[in-house]
Amino acid sequence: MASIRELHEQIINKERSAVEITQEALNRIQELEPKLHSFLTVTTEQALKQAQAVDAKVAAGEEIGILAGIPIGIKDNLCTKGIVTTCASRILENFVPPYESTVTQKLADAGGVMVGKTNLDEFAMGSSTENSAYQVTANPWDLSRVPGGSSGGSAAAVAADECVVSLGSDTGGSIRQPASFCGVVGMKPTYGLVSRYGLVAYASSLDQIGPFGRSVEDAAILLSAIAGYDPQDSTSLKVAIPNYAANLKSDFKVGKKLRIGVITETFGEGLDPEVEAAVTKAIQQLQELGAEIHPISCPSFRYGLPTYYIIAPSEASANLARYDGVKYGLRSPDADNLLSMYTRTRSQGFGAEVKRRIMIGTYALSAGYYDAYYLKAQKVRTLIKQDFEKAFETVDVLISPTAPTTAFRAGEKTTDPLSMYLNDLMTIPANLAGLPGISLPCGFDSKGLPIGLQIVGKVLGEEQLFQVAYAYEQSTNWHLQKPKMA
Ligand code: GLN
Repeated sequence: MASIRELHEQIINKERSAVEITQEALNRIQELEPKLHSFLTVTTEQALKQAQAVDAKVAAGEEIGILAGIPIGIKDNLCTKGIVTTCASRILENFVPPYESTVTQKLADAGGVMVGKTNLDEFAMGSSTENSAYQVTANPWDLSRVPGGSSGGSAAAVAADECVVSLGSDTGGSIRQPASFCGVVGMKPTYGLVSRYGLVAYASSLDQIGPFGRSVEDAAILLSAIAGYDPQDSTSLKVAIPNYAANLKSDFKVGKKLRIGVITETFGEGLDPEVEAAVTKAIQQLQELGAEIHPISCPSFRYGLPTYYIIAPSEASANLARYDGVKYGLRSPDADNLLSMYTRTRSQGFGAEVKRRIMIGTYALSAGYYDAYYLKAQKVRTLIKQDFEKAFETVDVLISPTAPTTAFRAGEKTTDPLSMYLNDLMTIPANLAGLPGISLPCGFDSKGLPIGLQIVGKVLGEEQLFQVAYAYEQSTNWHLQKPKMA
């Protein structure tokens, strides 16, 4: 499918209707889903209705916004009124939200066409989308490999051209890592820039919703549409939202001295040599474009992973207490008293990884262990934040690989949670510090699998992140490569 801008031109020039474009996406979904499994629900009827409404406006000579008639995939942890929202969990198998998340409402108001709800790791816990209770999504570049996670369905759907853009959520890397594995652009905004109202909570102090696109521009357009203050989210920031896509070219010129810090701790042991080579080349490319390159040490980053895997499960154990068989979704039918109803519902409804997180979190928060684990983790979180603050005294953005490897084989890490957790090594620090980060394609390994480059910015530094990413993207051809199935 074409870019948002190209499709918009086609719609307003009446070369193609929104219905035709939507039908193209729906046809591709129908064709590819038997192999790809990126959607849990396809919302054909509603999508065509939304597209018809756009066409009616065009026919009436009304102005339409840039997203009007654009097919969009939505991660299935975002509540959509009247449309089942499962979080890829059995416990929410039949949950039909009575309300709409702020981001999906904003997209609907902008005329965006939701083509379906995408697959994820159950409750967004995972790095491969294999923890879904329903299906395993394949990587469009190699169907025997994972798309990354937890927003694997959203990343795969965009890479395989089943939709133009999509939304994911990123708690420890769940937008950037699958973007890297699937060869697309994925952005996690500053904490608070995008409302979390209607996002099923995993770890509330870390969760952020963000865009996937096949280009920096498409991702920038989508972020402008979903960002902004929302009184329904108490952590929402009251800031003006720039038109990110309109400003892509303005700030990255030779001689303007953009200072890029290369995080030294993200190179070396454990990093796939082919990933290292591609990222090193990308850094050289940015230097040729006029950036100053500085090696930067962030010594506390090595504690990011253990810190995250205390804080995220702790918050998850609290957030997931609400699934008790009373208020939402599944209720075990074979219980004879209230307590056994609670325990059976939770034991039948939650998958193994979710149970593991609830147990770790409950343990870390329990009396006697709280100080040793949770409180300690919060202190280390502050140290990681301070590392970033110090780095940003001398540089404008920070660069690293997005993930230590390219996409691994399905089943390769499912029996070893620790090796799965290691995938998030490079993405987690930005979540702990609430900073924006983007992943964009920077090459392929010898197996033909995409490699991702991560750029992390200052608080509310989205505009600059997009500019740097755009300058790099436009000087390469990586984003123009497509998997064979697309
Ligand atoms: N892989 C990480 C986890 O399992 C991150 C998930 C996410 O960002 N939602 O917690």
